[in-house]
Amino acid sequence: MNSPGIIIGGGIGGLATALALHQRGIRTIVYERATAIREVGAGLVLAPNALRVCAQLGLSKAVEAVSWPLSRAVVATTDGRPLTMVDADALAKQFGYGMRVIHRSALQKLLLDALPAEAVQTNKKVIGITTGRLATQIAFADGSAVDGDFVIGADGINSAVRRAIFGAKALRYSGQTCWRAVVDCALPTAQPHQSVEYWGSTPGLRVGLVPMEAGQIYVFVTTAAPAEQLDTPGTVVATLLELTREFGPSVAEVLRACDEHQLSRADLFDLPTLPTWSARSVALLGDAAHATTPNLGQGACQALEDAYTIAACLAAHDAPAPAFAEYQRLRKAKADLTVQLSRQIGQVVNLPAWLKPLLFPVLRMIPPAISMKQISRVYDTQYLDKLRASTPSLPASS
Ligand SMILES: Cc1cc2nc3c(=O)[nH]c(=O)nc-3n(C[C@H](O)[C@H](O)[C@H](O)COP(=O)(O)OP(=O)(O)OC[C@H]3O[C@@H](n4cnc5c(N)ncnc54)[C@H](O)[C@@H]3O)c2cc1C
Repeated sequence: MNSPGIIIGGGIGGLATALALHQRGIRTIVYERATAIREVGAGLVLAPNALRVCAQLGLSKAVEAVSWPLSRAVVATTDGRPLTMVDADALAKQFGYGMRVIHRSALQKLLLDALPAEAVQTNKKVIGITTGRLATQIAFADGSAVDGDFVIGADGINSAVRRAIFGAKALRYSGQTCWRAVVDCALPTAQPHQSVEYWGSTPGLRVGLVPMEAGQIYVFVTTAAPAEQLDTPGTVVATLLELTREFGPSVAEVLRACDEHQLSRADLFDLPTLPTWSARSVALLGDAAHATTPNLGQGACQALEDAYTIAACLAAHDAPAPAFAEYQRLRKAKADLTVQLSRQIGQVVNLPAWLKPLLFPVLRMIPPAISMKQISRVYDTQYLDKLRASTPSLPASS
């Protein structure tokens, strides 16, 4: 390969891919449309699969320094009675890693800091892609253009790269809208390492309280609503307090600590399964390939798995097309399963109010071993060890 590879999008997926390729000696440049890689997003839960990728990128210590360990993730009814629970110690025994909470911007920064400065160019919005037999040309909004031996579209759920190679694909609305914030507030429970997602009585209604570090909480609220509704400025906290009044004083305390400007709202969409993730020398990864609803907390985790895998495949092949075919073989079934499981959880949360009292006792009766079996398919990353073993010169896993 002659020209540097091109990665479109400097989010978690794009930056992690650049780092994984850099560690394998493959030159790439990330082109990001924003004028700077700045603080956006709220909290992310890094599950065992994501923590394993971080370790294989040599980032464990850096991640530990800016994240918070969870001991348990509980789903409960408004009175605090558990419906299901994930035990992080059990995960650590089974998969080698537990769960940690990190600010999206902190993860993005540590990936950026691990890259050479010249590997990322900002203010580069892609507006066109032309694929030729030997190279692919990318056109930017500022009038410039570059050629690359391969192009990786890591440009998120509304991917311009996806549109250019596969045409427009309609996203699928989950029926839920979501408000998120990271709030300076002590967790109103005696369990500083336990996250709780409370399920309410009406369709789509949930509140999540996730400790991020001493004195900081990642809070999210979801409810069923038509897409594209706008909040009225000055009323958002009051609206959320009214919406969540059945959840009791702990939730109200955290919401009252929110500054309206910290709260971001997003309608929750996913992407129907694509038949394929690549065409010639162009491939998709992360949300561009398999955007998922956040119900399993796996969007960024799956993007990290993609990043490590696509880099290993490009290192193992002389040409992009067979590398992208192998990347898809290793990743697609699992990423598609994640989207599907997450969507199903959203559909359960969307059930009408009259069904919820019937549903909750059923959920409580599901043995933990059954829930664990489902989620194990998502957290399992044994294939990554084989990929790592194929390149002995990589930095030590830490
Ligand atoms: C409410 C909510 C909660 C979530 N919670 C979790 C969680 O707990 N755990 C988890 O793992 N995931 C979670 N996620 C999902 C996670 O945030 C995403 O899946 C993940 O960030 C996807 O990374 P990405 O790199 O594929 O895309 P993005 O992070 O969207 O990055 C895409 C980048 O491409 C750039 N870009 C876009 N278009 C262009 C263009 N034309 N030219 C150049 N650049 C472009 C964008 O500016 C952006 O920087 C959550 C998502 C939501 C909405």
